[in-house]
Amino acid sequence: MKPIISPMDDVEELYQEILLDHYRNPRNKQPCHAFLLRAHQSNLLCGDEIVLGIELAQDSIGKIAFEGHGCSISQASASMLTEAVSGMTKTQALDLIEKVRHLTHGDACEEDLGDVMALKGVSKFPVRVKCALLPWMALKDALFQKNARPP
Ligand code: ZN
Repeated sequence: MKPIISPMDDVEELYQEILLDHYRNPRNKQPCHAFLLRAHQSNLLCGDEIVLGIELAQDSIGKIAFEGHGCSISQASASMLTEAVSGMTKTQALDLIEKVRHLTHGDACEEDLGDVMALKGVSKFPVRVKCALLPWMALKDALFQKNARPP
């Protein structure tokens, strides 16, 4: 008997591959101390640490980087985030953060958010939702540090 593969299984396999690719080859991972706008978030449950640094050019995200360590979900999510929000305005970025929050809680998403869609998989594992959202919370913090200066 042939195995029955539903379209859902294909999608989940693709999500897994996207997550692993970002975890193994993180995009924009570099020291963030030189960024004026940066934020740190940690997840004690899992030992995840994320520092996110951004530079605004006018009202758009001109440069973005992250550093950190932790589980594959948190690190892959940070890598996806840096690609997804690069060049976005602050409003667009905040809008995407909300969409990702809904996505990881299992809400339907009609829009194609690119690689970020792979985070939908964590909605089945409530303890991993915080891992996935960690870098997005750091981005929100960094965006609101309008007047941040280096220490
Ligand atoms: Zn984690």
